[in-house]
Amino acid sequence: MFHKRIRIKDLLQSDNVNYQATVMGWVRTFRNNQFIALNDGSTNNNLQIVIALGSLDEQTLKRITTGACIKASGEIIPSLGKGQKIELNAINVEILGDSDAEKFPLQPKKHSLEFLREIAHLRFRTNTFGAVFRIRHSLAFAIHEFFNKKGFIYLHTPIITASDAEGAGEMFKVTTLPLDGTAPRNDDGSINFKEDFFGRSTNLTVSGQLEGELAAMAFSDIYTFGPTFRAENSNTTRHLAEFWMIEPEMAFYDLEDNMNLAEEFIKYIIRYAMDNNKEDLDFLTQRLEEEEKQKPQNERSEMSLLQKLEFVVNNDFEKITYTDAIEILKESSHNKKKKFQYIIDKWGIDLQSEHERYLVEKHFKKPVILTNYPKEIKAFYMRQNDDGKTVAAMDILAPGIGEIVGGSQREERLDKLTQRMEEMHIPTEELDWYLDTRRFGACPHAGFGLGFERIVQFVTGMGNIRDVIPFPRYPKSASF
Ligand code: ATP
Ligand code: MN
Repeated sequence: MFHKRIRIKDLLQSDNVNYQATVMGWVRTFRNNQFIALNDGSTNNNLQIVIALGSLDEQTLKRITTGACIKASGEIIPSLGKGQKIELNAINVEILGDSDAEKFPLQPKKHSLEFLREIAHLRFRTNTFGAVFRIRHSLAFAIHEFFNKKGFIYLHTPIITASDAEGAGEMFKVTTLPLDGTAPRNDDGSINFKEDFFGRSTNLTVSGQLEGELAAMAFSDIYTFGPTFRAENSNTTRHLAEFWMIEPEMAFYDLEDNMNLAEEFIKYIIRYAMDNNKEDLDFLTQRLEEEEKQKPQNERSEMSLLQKLEFVVNNDFEKITYTDAIEILKESSHNKKKKFQYIIDKWGIDLQSEHERYLVEKHFKKPVILTNYPKEIKAFYMRQNDDGKTVAAMDILAPGIGEIVGGSQREERLDKLTQRMEEMHIPTEELDWYLDTRRFGACPHAGFGLGFERIVQFVTGMGNIRDVIPFPRYPKSASF
């Protein structure tokens, strides 16, 4: 009989009254031994359940506590109270799962995000995380919808890889060899990975791009959407050790096509969330407004969360070259007054997030696509420009976050590619399979990587990336 339940979202969306319904969910609050606020996760809104006086025995009433799971049946009637159109007049309440009110860590009050991170296994049951993870779901769905409509093939690239040459970040090792010092050794004392599970040294992937390129040389347009691992010791609000990345790779695309696709893609998925998660976005917008009130006037943002999203989907991203960006930064009063931690003094340096954020938040006040970076600060596979100094790279920078996309046109010319690999000391033998794409039917192609959690951060307005993935992994933390 469990399948007979009606989801609270569906109940609240309909204007129908005077019919029998059964609901199930978790008690948020219980007032006056009479009013239950019930949530089943289908929406942020609770259903009010009214218990007719005298209809439940004392024992059952005592077991209706915050956090308890219940099943309630009765008639849906117009609500007499304020704040809701309908309510459930319960004739029957069954306790499915008790919750000791003394011990349940989530009390009906505001908890800090830091505290909730320590009880990440329970935080789904709060309004904030309910909204965040429903939006995360919508964005994931929209990503598949966008690429599917465009005829892209969803490609599953390996999570365990043997290549560690890509250089996107520090890697986690994968091994079944014993860690107690008894692992087999080579004559020179190094670990003999020939004895390891895969017969060679393996790692967790930092990017599916190289494998993605191989498939693009057959299907024309592919995308990956999977977990990515970086053992980088960066304790920032934008880095995780385990995150999800979307990596489209397209044959017959140049840098311009690549940028346009990325912009269309980002706007599409944001628009999707705005159309399908209105209540949750309203809630998070309000939440952020409250949070902003704690800040001094000059640090508050000019736009609300919803206004910011609206602005991004309705305006063109700014496209500028790295060289122009360096000029803007160098000449900025911020730089001259030495307000940057890293002063911009010459062409060629890598931009820090403070510089990216200055360009986006202070100078252009909109998302910016930076192109044509110096080849020295970019990966070996990026296509070399005719100037001999820059590569056809593009990064998309978003307000409040910094880099959300990194991409490029790829170097399809075998000689140029191998030459660059040698310059960067990347072993060509190890990536021979990759080089085959350049040997057999190479073509101009391009792609990018979007960090999923960064876009979830952007859409939800959450300040810390650890609050937009269910169970975050970061240095010194892998609980749950
Ligand atoms: P950053 O400079 O912010 O560390 P990156 O240059 O290392 O980024 P790429 O290697 O280009 O990033 O990866 C592509 C995208 O993956 C980035 O634009 C970003 O959105 C996301 N990303 C990279 N590293 C992380 C991380 N540690 N946690 C979450 N997302 C990440
Ligand atoms: Mn990085």
